[in-house]
Amino acid sequence: MIKNIDNKILNSLKKELNRQQTHIELIASENYVSKAVLELNGSILTNKYAEGYPSKRYYGGCEFIDEIESYGIELAKKLFNAEHANIQPHSGSQANEAAYKALLEPGDKVLSMSLDAGGHLTHGYHINFSGQLYNFIFYKVNPKTEEIDFEEIERLAFEHKPKLILAGASSYTKIINFKKFREIADKIGAFFMVDMAHIAGLVAGGVHPNPVLYADIVTTTTHKTLRGSRGGMILSKKEYAKKIDAVVFPGVQGGPLENQIGGKVQALSEALTQDFKDYAKQVILNAKALANSLKNKGFRLIANGTENHTVIVEVKDSIGLTGKQAETILETVGIIVNKNMIPFDKEKPVNASGIRLGSPAMTTRGFKEDEFIKVADIIQSALNNHAEDNLSKLRNEVIELCKKFPIYDYIKY
Ligand SMILES: *Cc1c(COP(=O)(O)O)cnc(C)c1O
Repeated sequence: MIKNIDNKILNSLKKELNRQQTHIELIASENYVSKAVLELNGSILTNKYAEGYPSKRYYGGCEFIDEIESYGIELAKKLFNAEHANIQPHSGSQANEAAYKALLEPGDKVLSMSLDAGGHLTHGYHINFSGQLYNFIFYKVNPKTEEIDFEEIERLAFEHKPKLILAGASSYTKIINFKKFREIADKIGAFFMVDMAHIAGLVAGGVHPNPVLYADIVTTTTHKTLRGSRGGMILSKKEYAKKIDAVVFPGVQGGPLENQIGGKVQALSEALTQDFKDYAKQVILNAKALANSLKNKGFRLIANGTENHTVIVEVKDSIGLTGKQAETILETVGIIVNKNMIPFDKEKPVNASGIRLGSPAMTTRGFKEDEFIKVADIIQSALNNHAEDNLSKLRNEVIELCKKFPIYDYIKY
């Protein structure tokens, strides 16, 4: 189908396609994009330079690029009920970089969730630009419930008077109460920002409260539950519109990736359909089926379960494996997960005490509750009996299950 691809690349591409087809993908931040999104990502839109914004470009020949980007901005505003949308950020990290730049001066204080409690590197981790440029203070979770503790947040807010309070996480399994965050921010006169990278698709599908209604600025990725191109997006109140646009370009970026933007716009269009609403509902039903099944088998789940697309399983104290070891064992049977810190983790991040599982990708593939219960069976069997014959039997079960839910079978490299 594709001619002239360098042989080395083509070889790896074929193997990667086969890997995606024959593995159960449980990485909570991954998904399978539609044929249309995939096509747009590899389209001729990649050839165009379009620094600036629709009808205010620094290059000629942008009239059709303008049509796509303007349409995308309208769709994003409609989908999330936002006053302003910028769909140019190259990634979630760059969306956050721009949002901070719009609200803060270097050295300003920010209150955010710590990495081990579920936060993201760009929420102030010391080796990330965020932690180096700004002065982050962290909230954790309640040690008993392992859920967000608003008393702690309010106490830290009054003690440190941050200029910005940040909500949003990479590994948090419960519904986030944005209204309560807003109330605390208002008490101390702080900005309130939400990074909804993980849950944007759930918000779009109407199965998670919408942070746009409460936050000054909302950042997101477009490739996780939202199921679009890899990239970022910023939604905000009208009063921040000019500032946001200026910090994205020319503040932190140059030419927008129009092929990626094409795929983002397609995903936004798909997210407005009933099919996508049904998808978002099923993502949560599937995560709950997986969580309940693992719980019944005796696994300890962080925060005792899930209300979204993510399940975090404690493996160190309960079954004597580090997150890293569990990740490796599961990979040999064809189940892809990632090791993950748990709240108050005593292990280093490279080992970690937990694994993070997510339902978005396999839900796209067509898995329902029954398949996720089967996945829980395989996980339990693999982690309890890593003898080679058991693992190879489980590997075959995974391959059979994947065959029943084909992806990209029209692609012939
Ligand atoms: C994934 C994620 C990001 C970063 O997105 P990239 O596109 O990988 O840079 C930012 N914030 C949160 C909460 C995330 O989960």
